[in-house]
Amino acid sequence: MYKEDTIAAISTPHGAGGVGIIRISGDKAFEIAERIFRGKKDFKLIRSHTINYGKIVNPESGAVLDEVLLSKMEKPKTFTREDVVEINCHGGMVVLKNILELCIKEGARLAEPGEFTKRAFLNGRIDLSQAEAVIDLINSKTNESSKAAISQLEGKLSRKIKDARSKLIELLAHIEVTVDYPEHDIEEITGNMVYEEIGKIKEKLCDIVKSFERGRIIREGIDAVIIGKPNVGKSSLLNELSGKSKAIVTDIPGTTRDIIEEYININGIPLRIIDTAGIRETEDVVEKIGVEKTHRAIDEADLVIMMIDAKRGMDEDDNRILTMLGDKKLIILINKIDLVDEKQINEIESLLKGRKCIRTSVKEGTGISELENAITELFVQGEVSVNEEILLTNIRHKNLIDMAISSIEKAMESIDGSMPLDLVSIDITDAADYLGQITGESVSEDVMHEIFSKFCLGK
Ligand code: GDP
Repeated sequence: MYKEDTIAAISTPHGAGGVGIIRISGDKAFEIAERIFRGKKDFKLIRSHTINYGKIVNPESGAVLDEVLLSKMEKPKTFTREDVVEINCHGGMVVLKNILELCIKEGARLAEPGEFTKRAFLNGRIDLSQAEAVIDLINSKTNESSKAAISQLEGKLSRKIKDARSKLIELLAHIEVTVDYPEHDIEEITGNMVYEEIGKIKEKLCDIVKSFERGRIIREGIDAVIIGKPNVGKSSLLNELSGKSKAIVTDIPGTTRDIIEEYININGIPLRIIDTAGIRETEDVVEKIGVEKTHRAIDEADLVIMMIDAKRGMDEDDNRILTMLGDKKLIILINKIDLVDEKQINEIESLLKGRKCIRTSVKEGTGISELENAITELFVQGEVSVNEEILLTNIRHKNLIDMAISSIEKAMESIDGSMPLDLVSIDITDAADYLGQITGESVSEDVMHEIFSKFCLGK
């Protein structure tokens, strides 16, 4: 049904910019462009996949709305696999809005968030996990997370999943022939054979799942909290870390503009410091923001960076904080080592009872790269390199693979219990179905809606 209409949207971010882009996709895209674009050549004569200088003119009033560059892209070699027109105009909101309104007046409909990508999926240009990679790519916070998204966009994850799914389906077919047409001249499949085959598939799926934690961290980053007594150097540390790598500020789509997250890039991993404002303002973390709030900040964090003042030494408060931490990932910094001697540092270290700590002087920049390396090592073993391996970054994908694995395990148990193969095949069918939901080969309308609604407008 959707194929009958043509959609249009502003594809560049809101606000003034040098250039703004309006994208039109659908059967009427060329018709609309022909009515509103005045270039050197007649629109019909413009070759596909070329960029053309001209003006956007209201065909009724003759008013010129802007001087533009227009790209004409004939299907099927386009993002949506439909006819696409992109108008590069000047980046003011009024200009963009007027041209968009004109497109709509001429027969286009305002696109929903993600609708261009949804069409690319529905028309078979990309599968569902690739469509989701487009969102990830837009939201990437570091080079590494964008590389992971690109690899998913290229279909590396899809290929593995499709491969596993088609092997399951092949097995199902083989089981069906064996069970339903025993007279057929085909090698009969046995429980043992099925067991071995699905076991291999399970191993491969488990490998993909293992990459999830790593992928999640590269994509979403680490939530960290810096705690310690007043004046120990928390704000100085934050400044040092963010000054070195320039904080990246992102808007979170779908939220108001004033919620802004700040990310510090640590060896390619985005680090978000939670609740620093609170900590920065209070004189004494434990006393003023209260034990409960400190607890909550610690609870929410993936990582706690605790700072101890070398000059003042360990005291009750520090011990209290330490006991709160439980089994959280923890990095202890003994800060201001420039003010003390070796003996004083050793004393603190012995009070830490073998906990690993890093000696720092934020003031002099000592120990900062050690801290950065410690963070990387805690969360990703080895180097962060996402060039070769597949990284599972999406929680929806992970849950589906987990469900496929447990269906395979159920099938294996049934074989162990000498159940008939046609019963075993029910669980194998489930497993194949779960995998199909990742790539979109078997996916419901609701899930699709959920996924595409996360997109921004114009994508
Ligand atoms: P916060 O209250 O924990 O956020 O501490 P601040 O970052 O505001 O630092 C308190 C004071 O300690 C400031 O005057 C800093 O310049 C100083 N400071 C921080 N780190 C060091 C350090 O490593 N050595 C020395 N000598 N002073 C430091």
